[in-house]
Amino acid sequence: MTAPALHTRNLVKTFGGFTATDDVSLTLAPGARHALIGPNGAGKTTLVNLLTGVLAPTAGAVFLAGEDVTGLGQHRRVRRGLARTFQINRLFADLTVLESVALAVGERRGVGWRVWSPVGAQGEVLDEAARLIETLRLADVAHRRTRDLAYGRQRLIEIALALAVRPRVLLLDEPAAGVPTRESRALFETLAELPRDMTILLIEHDMDLVFRFAERISVLVSGAVLLEDTPDVVATHPLVREVYLGE
Ligand code: ADP
Repeated sequence: MTAPALHTRNLVKTFGGFTATDDVSLTLAPGARHALIGPNGAGKTTLVNLLTGVLAPTAGAVFLAGEDVTGLGQHRRVRRGLARTFQINRLFADLTVLESVALAVGERRGVGWRVWSPVGAQGEVLDEAARLIETLRLADVAHRRTRDLAYGRQRLIEIALALAVRPRVLLLDEPAAGVPTRESRALFETLAELPRDMTILLIEHDMDLVFRFAERISVLVSGAVLLEDTPDVVATHPLVREVYLGE
């Protein structure tokens, strides 16, 4: 049997006497489109930080493709195929879209800032960056500075930067936060087309987007997984209806 792309076993995180992550076991099969939802304070950010290695768990373990990565720091997890996007905008405002993405591709290929040197692999790097930009439907703005773009497109660049590391698992942390509705629809259409050899865990407040994108949803309440099921089942759960659908 293939190992899950991402798996947590009985993860616990306490801050002083407070339990922010309460015995969370998640399993994402390769290619999964999985979402994590829950009210404010449910522990979503803490869980993401445990997955990425920003925080060390109080107990339990994190596995990437079957390998125990619990003791590994963030960079090592990235090298093992885990990438994330951030809620915070982290773009180089003065670079163009192509320059930004090429830098990230160059970083993965170990050429770093030398991507612009007249010698070396810059042709291949630029080709790969251009392909990523195409995938994310940013080709028309490839030569514009990231600061001049609409917020929704800046979020797409952040996703391009995450994809530049060729992740096996992509964590999307509120990709639509602050993005106008029409743009966020377009963003999710693009996300829906990402290749299936990539596993995606989405954290998102907008339930419309979550229910359309995810094939499985875990509902986190007070640090624990209240239920995990398909969108149809999750949508009919009384607590989900109360918290998200205002019933
Ligand atoms: P969410 O992302 O779902 O809103 P968080 O993971 O940010 O939830 O927070 C879950 C709970 O853990 C909150 O009650 C928060 O106050 C608490 N918490 C998060 N980080 C810390 C910390 N470093 N120290 C103490 N409490 C924390």
